[in-house]
Amino acid sequence: MKILFVTPEIHPLAKTGGLGDVSRSLPLALRKAGLDVRVLLPGYRSVMARIGAAQTVCTLDALAPIWSPARLLEARLPETDLPLWVVDCPTLYDRPGTPYQDPDGRDWDDNALRFGFLCHVAAWLGAAPAPLSWSPDTVHCNDWQAGLVPALLRLRGGRARSVTTIHNLAFQGNFDPLWVSRLGLPTESFHMHGLEFYGRLSFLKAGITYADRITTVSPRYAREIQTPEFGCGLDGLLRHRSDDLAGILNGIDDTWNPARDPVLPAPFDARRLVAGKNLNKAALQKSCRLEAGPDLPLAGLVSRLTYQKGIDLLLDALPELMALPLQLAVLGSGDADVERRLQEAARAYPGRMSVALDFDEPLSHRIIAGSDLFLMPSRFEPCGLAQMYAMTYGTPPVVRETGGLADTVVDCREDTLQTGQATGFTFREETPGALAATVRRAVATYGTRKSWRTLQKTGMRRDFSWKQAAVHYVDIYRALAPAV
Ligand code: ADP
Repeated sequence: MKILFVTPEIHPLAKTGGLGDVSRSLPLALRKAGLDVRVLLPGYRSVMARIGAAQTVCTLDALAPIWSPARLLEARLPETDLPLWVVDCPTLYDRPGTPYQDPDGRDWDDNALRFGFLCHVAAWLGAAPAPLSWSPDTVHCNDWQAGLVPALLRLRGGRARSVTTIHNLAFQGNFDPLWVSRLGLPTESFHMHGLEFYGRLSFLKAGITYADRITTVSPRYAREIQTPEFGCGLDGLLRHRSDDLAGILNGIDDTWNPARDPVLPAPFDARRLVAGKNLNKAALQKSCRLEAGPDLPLAGLVSRLTYQKGIDLLLDALPELMALPLQLAVLGSGDADVERRLQEAARAYPGRMSVALDFDEPLSHRIIAGSDLFLMPSRFEPCGLAQMYAMTYGTPPVVRETGGLADTVVDCREDTLQTGQATGFTFREETPGALAATVRRAVATYGTRKSWRTLQKTGMRRDFSWKQAAVHYVDIYRALAPAV
């Protein structure tokens, strides 16, 4: 089976969140399962700088916006055998900043064109007759940036089938309706059962409406997005398509393995847990200028700083949290207001709270390894990877019971601890008080060393590998393949 995996991010070439990790590890797992997978992505500056020797597959000038030359390049993801097809179009992608925003944090105003072009290339590759000798059976489209692919395939009678995966329903790619004709989409499809969403062109709605199958990244989130509370206005459509919608929990790969993590001061495993954690904690305390001390519980947080992640709940809970014996190490970037409040808080609690406003991959590993607890008070969380990394690194997470957090973290109670199921601490209410009460519970358990070790080791033993998820995706692709 030939799969074209279309994504706007892939670790380590371009990453702003979990999608970057998934776009690397899921295709690798699918290749292990015997599938012929290629990843299609834009040739951002960071991608072009790191792919090394790439071969030109073909020119894309005929598809490109007319003022702009474009090529399809073939390369490998560094240190893997994963084939990448890179859309090299300097006018659209050779820029500073992140994949979506300029260096000042503003969305590029031609994002509709940047990702519309990516979609056109993907749909062209899946067209009938096939334009190249390698032609996908299924195009796997990730998030809104790939959302027009199913529409283009369906409306133009493509050969390939399509799967849309929703990694976060809150990001929809909604644009001025002028883009319908500018992107060469059929204007007669701009209506509420097609491309239109409250008067705008919606990439994600197009992906949901026209895909043969829809998946999202945890079973709980698959149920949640069919409700008005989590549906971001698309719950009706998702209920309508519920027979074709599945929730498949993401996995994590060997990039996150505490025994073989090259950026840790002291790699460790479950057998060298106490000594290993203490060394990483001491190094983290030192580098973050927190007071030294192995016995003071240290809570870590690594996150995009947005409303979704509930960082304001943490900020509002700080007076209660800082009344506990507790240190905090925060790494994140995002909303200016949240960043400012975090900086103020760090100044208010010197030696007890550190804040790094940055996107720093090695530091994220060191915080997750060196902390005792990991905080994720998300308002909603499609899957969440960081809590799985934390459990794997012997750092029990404190999470809100929502989406993939609810599917992956088992709350520590007397019964779940005794039966060896507990892996962290969960709370339901979206309030600073509920967060503070749960951290208090975690700190109390931390004081009971035997229970704490059990909790850590249960988390470290959990199998979060991609094996199971890959089987589900293969089943979906197989069901879509034409009978031979
Ligand atoms: P989301 O995709 O919503 O951002 P996930 O938990 O699924 O949330 O994935 C987040 C990923 O991004 C994790 O790999 C996490 O470690 C990483 N990450 C988030 N913020 C930062 C940051 N400031 N620096 C480094 N890594 C970060």
